[in-house]
Amino acid sequence: MSADEVFREELRKLMSGEILFDEPADRHTSIGVGGRIDALAFPESEEEIARLVAFLRARQVSFLPVGNWTNLIVRDGGYRGVLISLARMRGLSMGESGDGGILVKVEAGVLLSELVNLSVRESLTGMEFCAGIPGSVGGAIRMNAGAYGGEIKDIVAVLRLFDPSEGFRTANKDTLSFSYRNLDLPFETIIIGAVFRMRWGDAEGIAGRVLEILAGRREKHPLEFRNAGSVFKNPRGIPAGRLIEEAGLKGIRTGDAQISEKHGNFIVNRGHATAGEILFLIALVQQRVFEATGHALETEVRIIGE
Ligand SMILES: Cc1cc2nc3c(=O)[nH]c(=O)nc-3n(C[C@H](O)[C@H](O)[C@H](O)COP(=O)(O)OP(=O)(O)OC[C@H]3O[C@@H](n4cnc5c(N)ncnc54)[C@H](O)[C@@H]3O)c2cc1C
Repeated sequence: MSADEVFREELRKLMSGEILFDEPADRHTSIGVGGRIDALAFPESEEEIARLVAFLRARQVSFLPVGNWTNLIVRDGGYRGVLISLARMRGLSMGESGDGGILVKVEAGVLLSELVNLSVRESLTGMEFCAGIPGSVGGAIRMNAGAYGGEIKDIVAVLRLFDPSEGFRTANKDTLSFSYRNLDLPFETIIIGAVFRMRWGDAEGIAGRVLEILAGRREKHPLEFRNAGSVFKNPRGIPAGRLIEEAGLKGIRTGDAQISEKHGNFIVNRGHATAGEILFLIALVQQRVFEATGHALETEVRIIGE
């Protein structure tokens, strides 16, 4: 057996959840690009996460948590190391906070869409802005996802975290540093779960707002093609999409990757785009927008791999 085969066998034995080897990332990323991932692990409990991370650290193998892959571009060379998916950590429970609020406790793999459905069903207000954001709780917290005037930080009360060097800990919101599309955490820290604070609201009002947001998204976003949401952050509040449109870049295409004709801040995969083509368009936009407007666009999407 080669050293690599021994390593894989050990990993397989360590995991009670699923583990995939040499897994193509384009099967997972919402934009449908990315090369081979050495290993993709699906732990099902906190203990399994701790065991897996200890094993990888002892062997100096790189790892990174992933959620629903909707803000991720994996390069065509793939990822050397282990991606740890939280998709099988799906616990969810509700309780009263004692001061009239409702606490919703969730594990990181729960999708925002499940929470939005729950809030409509149970008449809970606070989550409506998440309608149509296709991420998981873990990814949304890491990215401080936001839309329509709301951000995840507005409803987070407590986080359950796993720091590879310190172990599990609970962090109250006031000890956390959220900013525009970011929570300041080391990349290897794993968000295990969260408690969100919501309020009772008016059932019709909540459902109406959710439907309104979903309709707005269908109208503005190129949801007919695979994509990774907004590619760039809005510099100093100026919509990046507007700057891209003003620089005359909408509709530009290389291979199957295209700057959306519908919304300048989306790059779409019109069939078999590669990460290389997407990254080419990202670099082109950054250069042209800077030349045309003086704004240096930073990516909102996370780019990983080689
Ligand atoms: C059609 C579409 C519309 C979108 N609209 C919006 C929008 O309106 N607003 C918005 O903010 N975003 C939007 N997005 C982007 C994306 O959905 C959000 O950023 C989402 O929160 C990412 O969640 P995810 O689970 O997919 O994260 P992933 O893409 O899997 O990961 C994103 C980052 O989070 C990290 N991460 C993931 N899970 C964990 C975890 N458990 N612990 C620690 N780190 C973790 C990853 O390492 C990575 O750095 C949109 C995307 C699409 C495709």
